[in-house]
Amino acid sequence: MTHENYIGGRWVAAASGETDAVISPATGEMIAEVPSSTAADVDTAVAAARSAFEEWGGATPRTRSEALHRLTDGIEDNVDTLKALESQNVGKPVSIIDFEFDLLIDNMRFFAGGARFLEGRAAGEYLDGYTSMLRRDPLGVVGSIAPWNYPLNMAIWKIGPALAAGNTVVLKPSELTPLTALKLAEISADVLPAGVLNVVCGQGETAGASLVAHPDVAMISLTGDVSTGRLIAAAAAETLKRVHLELGGKAPVIVFDDADLDAVVTAVKEAGFYNSGQDCTAACRVISGPGIFDDVVSSLTDAVGTINMGDPSDPDVEMGPVVSDAQLARVAGMVDRAREAGAEVPVGGSAQDAAGFFYNPSLVVGPAQDSEIVQREVFGPVVSVQRFADDDEAIAWANGVDYGLAASVWTRDVSRAMRAARALQFGCVWVNDHIPIVSEMPHGGFKQSGYGKDMSLYAIEHYTELKHVMVKFT
Ligand code: NAD
Repeated sequence: MTHENYIGGRWVAAASGETDAVISPATGEMIAEVPSSTAADVDTAVAAARSAFEEWGGATPRTRSEALHRLTDGIEDNVDTLKALESQNVGKPVSIIDFEFDLLIDNMRFFAGGARFLEGRAAGEYLDGYTSMLRRDPLGVVGSIAPWNYPLNMAIWKIGPALAAGNTVVLKPSELTPLTALKLAEISADVLPAGVLNVVCGQGETAGASLVAHPDVAMISLTGDVSTGRLIAAAAAETLKRVHLELGGKAPVIVFDDADLDAVVTAVKEAGFYNSGQDCTAACRVISGPGIFDDVVSSLTDAVGTINMGDPSDPDVEMGPVVSDAQLARVAGMVDRAREAGAEVPVGGSAQDAAGFFYNPSLVVGPAQDSEIVQREVFGPVVSVQRFADDDEAIAWANGVDYGLAASVWTRDVSRAMRAARALQFGCVWVNDHIPIVSEMPHGGFKQSGYGKDMSLYAIEHYTELKHVMVKFT
């Protein structure tokens, strides 16, 4: 099937007529074609978003909230189609996909409600004879650039707060996984005024870069790789637009000797290999105490060996493929180099000899702190395990990477947990669990994991500008 862009309430092909192929990761075969958009298409979409801004940005919070609730109703009405598209396009097993859709629907309902909670903190006389008040105004046109690992979920994290705050949006989904964003556009046609949400498909270097460079785009929100974040921040500096960056992660899982071993193993099996490990908060870096280390390695080896990988449409399958042949090569290369550098791979460590992009769930034991597998995001079904000597080394190793998105601490000792939570330089620290997230709480990074928050009222505020209005009275 050949798709078109959704611009100003209409479906249009790329001006160039070019398309990109969309590939099924489970089979390696083409499942659709989408427009390969360029600056001309982005111009049209930004113009449509700009002309829709006055009405949408000026609408009451209630009006916007009700429209976003209707959009969520539309998602719920089409949830089976959306799940099937996401499963086929990303290779997500049908057994895990309910969780993601439950979350994204709750996220969207939260943003719809949050539209009514924007407020300024001041209304008073700070100078004799003058009343000051604060308004939170929308910015204008927001360019949202999404990744491939949770295509619809990340699209919701971007368009939800932006639209709730009164902005209009041009969304560019990943070139690898555009299908649910296009379906979302179709759903939006009945509930959002034309031009409020526009979806433009295409490559990062063309469609994405044009959106970043566009002078009428007030803000760019990216979820993607650190290297992409750097490029976008540099390019956005030309027009001084606001940038919101949710970049990669390398989440440590600090297991102290007094941890509940069974709970650790259950959590790492789930949170390290969920979505084939293609998760920015994946429990990918176990840092274990010396007393519990051997038990952690043997129990994790057994648990990882039981993960049922295969056809995503099989309800018994727990883990599917990685998203592309390039991602498969990246994962395989990193594990091979870790092994060559002296780490052990007691389970996994190879690709499957089959169609599609399948890599066996893997454990890498004993890599050095400065090795690539510890320092760089794999974004695949690979978890490393290191042995620390004492608590100070555990914290130093956990913090000793460029990333700072999420971390977990496992101990029965409340003081130890609180000391670690304070010392860890990560946007989220879990104690005795790893991965749960909720709409009310912010998600975002420290350090090179980016800046700005997704979810929560903080995210909606981030898509506004604070304005001071000062009234003189006599
Ligand atoms: P990516 O950076 O390759 O691509 C992300 C998006 O950016 C895509 O839509 C792509 O087309 C676009 N893009 C690429 N180059 C661009 C450019 N020069 N100008 C404008 N746009 C450009 O990332 P990915 O491979 O799709 O996603 C995986 C990455 O996303 C991982 O590093 C992962 O950790 C990160 N991620 C982070 C979070 C978070 O919340 N922090 C969530 C999910 C994924």
